[in-house]
Amino acid sequence: PETITVQELANRMAERGVEVVKTLMKLGVMATINQTIDADTAELVIEEFGHKIKRVTAADVEIGMRGEDDEEGSLKPRPPVVTIMGHVDHGKTSLLDALRSTDVAGREAGGITQHIGAYQVTVESGDKVTFIDTPGHAAFTEMRSRGANVTDIVILVVAADDGIMEQTVEAINHAKAAEVPIIVAINKIDRPDSDPNRVKTELLQHELVVEDMGGDILAIEVSAKERTNLDKLIEAILLQSELLELGANPDRAAQGVVIEAKLERGRGPVATVLVQRGTLKIGDIFVSGSEWGRVRAMINEHGKSIEEAGPALPVEVLGLNGAPLAGDDFIVVEHEARAREIAEFRGQTKREKEMAASGRGTLEQMLDKI
Ligand code: GDP
Ligand code: MG
Repeated sequence: PETITVQELANRMAERGVEVVKTLMKLGVMATINQTIDADTAELVIEEFGHKIKRVTAADVEIGMRGEDDEEGSLKPRPPVVTIMGHVDHGKTSLLDALRSTDVAGREAGGITQHIGAYQVTVESGDKVTFIDTPGHAAFTEMRSRGANVTDIVILVVAADDGIMEQTVEAINHAKAAEVPIIVAINKIDRPDSDPNRVKTELLQHELVVEDMGGDILAIEVSAKERTNLDKLIEAILLQSELLELGANPDRAAQGVVIEAKLERGRGPVATVLVQRGTLKIGDIFVSGSEWGRVRAMINEHGKSIEEAGPALPVEVLGLNGAPLAGDDFIVVEHEARAREIAEFRGQTKREKEMAASGRGTLEQMLDKI
């Protein structure tokens, strides 16, 4: 049900809360400033004040938010976005670190120095690959549960001396549910007790048939520690990515997803945003979950300030009014008023859900029960 707090109603009409409470009383509704009233009651109050009514429904808010779909001709090739998953201690962090150092773009600048939850490398061939660098499953499942499809390819890390374990199976299931192709990185092949063939055989039980065995799953034997076959792994990513024919329209208002967000002392709310289509620019006004803001600065993984961010580029964004959640959308809108309206609307919906979950219904729900 559409509802609004008395305070918010007062704010939107630019009237004092106490006057709204009085008007409500006149209408026979006893409500305090923090209570919620339904849309019909709010409409009566607005009429009493002589203001014009503009009801914003959920549909109004969300329709037009994402704008038109991109026409096929507007799509330009974009880099793949890759997430690394696997059992604990199988080498996810080590592999991410090793891959980070394959970046040729930032080599003189000292490589990738900032931890912003995602990074993009330019590989030897000049191709770019974006890696999501947040801790494994939690981030992936959390984002997926929020409806965000961030990743194009999952790299499944399996330690060659340990084989498929509980979290390996979980990762396989997540990737399958998300319909994201898997590339297997059989890691720790430098270990004397490593047995890559055993891993390949175990994969069969999960319907992952590697190329050696006549299937189409790419499996690369690597050592994150010795940096063995990283080039082959990157080659596999690029090959898989080519098959996916990834494209995005860079010439539109930016849309993306929040990878990480936090409140930082002295910097305020900071979010790492993965741009998915369009180009994000300094000064852009955006909504992210139930927060909004204006892009004040963008920082890349080299700690450099940048002016623009196109598809598949992760950037740290400053200029939010509050911290969104990982997996929240990030959508550039035209006007501040629109951003505010959408963010407020979403905030309200969120609060209502929380109230319902905590068992304290809205006023309307309470009235329904009487
Ligand atoms: P994560 O839990 O999956 O992130 O695994 P880590 O990257 O933290 O690695 C777990 C342990 O395995 C650490 O002690 C690493 O040094 C070690 N390790 C990771 N990759 C390799 C590798 O290729 N070879 C060997 N011998 N050890 C590795
Ligand atoms: Mg780790």
